[in-house]
Amino acid sequence: MTTEELVRRLAGVVGAGNVYHRPADLMVYEYDGSVEGAVDTARPAAVALPKDTDEVARVVRIANEAGLPVTARGAGTGLSGGAVAQRGGVIIAMSRMDRVLEIDYVDRTALVQPGVVNLELSEFTTGSGYFFAPDPSSQKVSTIGGNVAENAGGPHCLKYGVTTNHILGLEVVLPDGTVTRTGALARGQSGYDLTGIIVGSEGMLGIATQILVRLTPIAERIQVSLAAFRSLDDASHAVGQIIAAGILPAALEMVDNLTIQAVEPVYHAGYPMDAAAVLLIELDGLVEDVEADAAEIDAICRRCGTYDIRAATSLAERELLWKGRKMALAAMGRLAPNYYLHDTVVPRSRLPQTLREVERITRGAGLRCAQVFHAGDGNLHPLMLFDRTEPGAVERVLSASHDIIHACVEAGGTLSGEHGIGTEKRNYLPFVYTGEDLAAMAGVKHAFDPRGMFNPEKVFPSGYRCGEVRAMHNQLRAQRLSQRYGIVPV
Ligand SMILES: Cc1cc2nc3c(=O)[nH]c(=O)nc-3n(C[C@H](O)[C@H](O)[C@H](O)COP(=O)(O)OP(=O)(O)OC[C@H]3O[C@@H](n4cnc5c(N)ncnc54)[C@H](O)[C@@H]3O)c2cc1C
Repeated sequence: MTTEELVRRLAGVVGAGNVYHRPADLMVYEYDGSVEGAVDTARPAAVALPKDTDEVARVVRIANEAGLPVTARGAGTGLSGGAVAQRGGVIIAMSRMDRVLEIDYVDRTALVQPGVVNLELSEFTTGSGYFFAPDPSSQKVSTIGGNVAENAGGPHCLKYGVTTNHILGLEVVLPDGTVTRTGALARGQSGYDLTGIIVGSEGMLGIATQILVRLTPIAERIQVSLAAFRSLDDASHAVGQIIAAGILPAALEMVDNLTIQAVEPVYHAGYPMDAAAVLLIELDGLVEDVEADAAEIDAICRRCGTYDIRAATSLAERELLWKGRKMALAAMGRLAPNYYLHDTVVPRSRLPQTLREVERITRGAGLRCAQVFHAGDGNLHPLMLFDRTEPGAVERVLSASHDIIHACVEAGGTLSGEHGIGTEKRNYLPFVYTGEDLAAMAGVKHAFDPRGMFNPEKVFPSGYRCGEVRAMHNQLRAQRLSQRYGIVPV
């Protein structure tokens, strides 16, 4: 099928104004939020903007006839290259599928189209006493479809769980263009948990066209406190002690000094400029419980060395404390023209030494590194500042990234807490999975998408067929053994 024929057929489904094919229009779709260098850009043949499930299915069938791959796209805020059409083909953009279809306060559910922006759902239910709990820092822009595909996290996921814990059912267009419903949308909770398989599958198994989400009641009392520390070590110890005391804050975030330098002059969030790190601690629940936990946290933080701890006394102050955290990435432009935000996880108990190790790695690479992250979950976000026009800067960042990933895996952690694997980290998968593990995952992909047409070149290491993956794993294992112990496996 020629491009002209493809565009004509797509226009027949979604309308001529909802198909992009000119180079200037396609350029916008070559990227997502990831760093060029860590992730390649790629241009699709065409972008289609359907308005409902039927149109998505018809677009998929046209792409199938043309032999072209399909990549779904939400807001393009992803940080691992997921929405980039790595092998060209057709991008299905969800911008027009942005309606909240039904709200049911009795069942505490909302049925939404995938292009609904995360925060807009909670705004939609304002006044009802309910909200949508998963709150990625990108929530003003990112879509619920993108959140589902990446199994997004956020500050409040410490207590409430990540996206998968809030998805009750899906309507999905499969790679052959058929439509299926899962979970509560299929009225069948028995059998295989297909919702669970599709959430977090990075757009590689199906395109979500309707999403049934759980609505969470807003607690009687919400309190946000700030605790300032003179070292990252003290702040991380406090994180561990709070959780070990049996308290589960709604959110427990760390913001380091470099981030404070970027944020405070712009947003005046109230973070002390001289703190090595601040913890933002949100408690919610019944008034008595919040007060009791707050008193205990106060004592723990003082024992761990806080020199300033205070609770917001108004809604405005509470929102300001959060604004500093949630707008931190936007403020980084004050410090450097470019940044690379990493996403790895370590057990909470290993936070202090891992933060020190990340500092050692980035300092050794001549990079400034900010730390602003979901401390309660052990979900690190080392943010390396650089200027890509400086010769060798991108290479230094990528080399430091490699070492950070290594250090986190060595500490018992893993590759990604919430940003997904995409193309960014796919070649790191053999660090944490055996060839057999990857082959099992490849089997799931094959069952849904035998021709590999949905979002190809993502998640699995290059050449993911079982034999090749196993060979790659063995080669990596040999490398690691010889580096660490001088052992050369026979
Ligand atoms: C400033 C900033 C802060 C961020 N903070 C967080 C954070 O706190 N927590 C977090 O988890 N992430 C965070 N992210 C990353 C990103 O916002 C999330 O991954 C988000 O879920 C992506 O949503 P999106 O709509 O932008 O999806 P996109 O980037 O457009 O797509 C992401 C993936 O989802 C797939 N996809 C999109 N829609 C569908 C669909 N309907 N069906 C199937 N697959 C689909 C795409 O193919 C792609 O693989 C942040 C990003 C930025 C830029």
